[in-house]
Amino acid sequence: MENSSFLRKTARSAQIYREAARWIPGGVTANIKYFDPYPIVMDSASGTYLYDVDGNQYIDYNLCYGALILGHGNQSVIDAINQAFARIGTPIFGTPHRLETEMARVLVDMYPGIEKVRFTNSGLEATLLAIRLAMAWTGRKKLAKFEGHYHGSYDQVLISVNPQQRNLERHPVKTLDSLGLPDYYAENIVVLPFNEWDQTEEILHQHRHEIAAVIMEPIQGGFIPPDETFLKRLRELTHQYGMVLIFDEVKTGFRTGLSGAQGIYGVVPDLTALGKVLGGGFPVGAVGGWEEVMELCSPASGVDILTTEQQPPSLGQDQPLFHSGTYNGHPIVLTAGLATIQVLRKPGVYPQLEATTTQLRNGMEEILNRYGIACQTVGVGSIFNLVLSDLPVRRIQDVLESNLTLRRKLDTQLLNQGIFIKPLNRFSLSTAHTPEVIDETLERFELAVKSLVR
Ligand code: PLP
Repeated sequence: MENSSFLRKTARSAQIYREAARWIPGGVTANIKYFDPYPIVMDSASGTYLYDVDGNQYIDYNLCYGALILGHGNQSVIDAINQAFARIGTPIFGTPHRLETEMARVLVDMYPGIEKVRFTNSGLEATLLAIRLAMAWTGRKKLAKFEGHYHGSYDQVLISVNPQQRNLERHPVKTLDSLGLPDYYAENIVVLPFNEWDQTEEILHQHRHEIAAVIMEPIQGGFIPPDETFLKRLRELTHQYGMVLIFDEVKTGFRTGLSGAQGIYGVVPDLTALGKVLGGGFPVGAVGGWEEVMELCSPASGVDILTTEQQPPSLGQDQPLFHSGTYNGHPIVLTAGLATIQVLRKPGVYPQLEATTTQLRNGMEEILNRYGIACQTVGVGSIFNLVLSDLPVRRIQDVLESNLTLRRKLDTQLLNQGIFIKPLNRFSLSTAHTPEVIDETLERFELAVKSLVR
């Protein structure tokens, strides 16, 4: 790798990273944060910019894996947090409070599939609760998930997330994506191929009496859109077979628009998992869905919500479905989330985000084409991926078949030129990325491409 300039520019990062690796496995607190030769250690941030410990400045297109839709340190969010903290006088009550109701009402207003809500501290916990609700509602024990779809780092769903290049068969392959995963989870997982309707239909039919839920990212990885009728057909079939349809909108919620992917495609799931943007930069998750299903976790007695006809099979017991978490519904987190949503609700915010994203996508494609590099950008709203191939991208395998070696080299050069993305990852934009910032990015991008073809 021609990264001598990277090594020179990031010497202090290397030093701090080495120290971290003495005490923290791999020197990172989440595996995804690692990249070769070592991850850059950041020191401060403002708007679109990140500053590392060596004093280098980067235009940030990772934005904490898409969470920071308003960029770093948005003033409305900071003010809201400071005011909330001054008013309530504590980080957390450990009791119900009004912000929970306020946020729940916002979500019910915006998401067609949400009638009631529970909060969690991460996207992981949100998908986990959604799956538990589906199992309880149906009394079934299998979960169907799509190959290449990520739902968090826990045993039940760390399966077939990262198909390897050598597994490029067009039928879905069951893989365990971590050490330490017991077989018994995999035995109850049914793997489906995204955007391949005939196979999906056949597999669901085969397991129609056992599958409790189908969980999916309606836009795979936040960037590969579903084929036109795929979601609609899946909605109809899961309904017919009595399976709960879970949309994992942790990445797409409030990203692709105020109502996430379900708002764009007009398909309403039974349960929705949210996270990322919802926390305004703080740890958060939420599950929302139909009242009857959500009420399974209500411990309240005497609340006459379920009629006899609505009683699901597992409700013969006295115990509700258990859901808990010391920090669930954290007031400061919800304050940051509400302040973020308030900004996002202003007219023109999403069109502006889409305009700057289009400016960047078109500019990158134009530059790469000029240098004779086959490429395309693939995405929805303000997230996209840069795929170095001109073949259609409908599944994660299509990305794996693209020129990843060149993409990896390009990403190192992008870091050298002060464009921050996690190598091989997606680009996310924020409201702080003005047209001028995009122009600046494209100048740096061209320098990176030039240094590759020299
Ligand atoms: N679901 C999707 C679609 C995600 O993209 C992620 C995180 O990237 C998760 C779930 C897990 O969320 P968290 O990292 O907050 O646990």
